[in-house]
Amino acid sequence: MKNIAKDVYQIPLFPRNAINCYLVEDILIDAGIRSSGNIILKALKNKYVSKHILTHAHADHQGSSKIICETLNIPLFCSELEKPAAENGNVTFEYPNPNHFISKFQKKFWAGKGHLVFDTLKEGDQIGEFIAIETPGHSSGHLSFFREFDGVLIVGDVLTNMNLLTTKVGLHEPPTLFTSNKEINRKSILKLASLKPKTLCFGHGPVLFNNGELEKFIETLY
Ligand SMILES: [Zn+2]
Repeated sequence: MKNIAKDVYQIPLFPRNAINCYLVEDILIDAGIRSSGNIILKALKNKYVSKHILTHAHADHQGSSKIICETLNIPLFCSELEKPAAENGNVTFEYPNPNHFISKFQKKFWAGKGHLVFDTLKEGDQIGEFIAIETPGHSSGHLSFFREFDGVLIVGDVLTNMNLLTTKVGLHEPPTLFTSNKEINRKSILKLASLKPKTLCFGHGPVLFNNGELEKFIETLY
């Protein structure tokens, strides 16, 4: 577990930061794939955790939600639109092609069972020192979380900081295969950039201490 900023820890779940979750104050954001439970629980061993939030209910984020919530006896939160997938585990229903072999693989081997959502979150909700930002596109109910005073942003999958095929580090739009609406996601990228984030924490790829990389990337989009 890596301390990124005040009360923000990255929990890398795969080599090269290929899949991450984060402990933000006493809140676990995302929970890797189905087999990530032990790594996450070990990382959280000496930490107090009061709740678990999903940026979105894809298999590489909700995979261990159920086991974590049950083991730590904590409630699960996500947006209204992610609630069905979070609760029923049908995590690929929004994919452009749910029958693609990779979609099927994710559903079969990565997705966790659904877990009851205790309550839903929306734009502007306060999560400790962070606020929830609605960032639809990658999934329709995707949420990011921003802390204004030091510019820490939990991006989720609005952007990745690695090429998911080669694992080479760098900013990318999320893969089309797993993104329900690429155009809407681009608007969410701009929305996040307008916050002028200083530290970007991704679902995929290493944390970025932004020195203009984000602004440069946005220029390539249009
Ligand atoms: Zn993801």
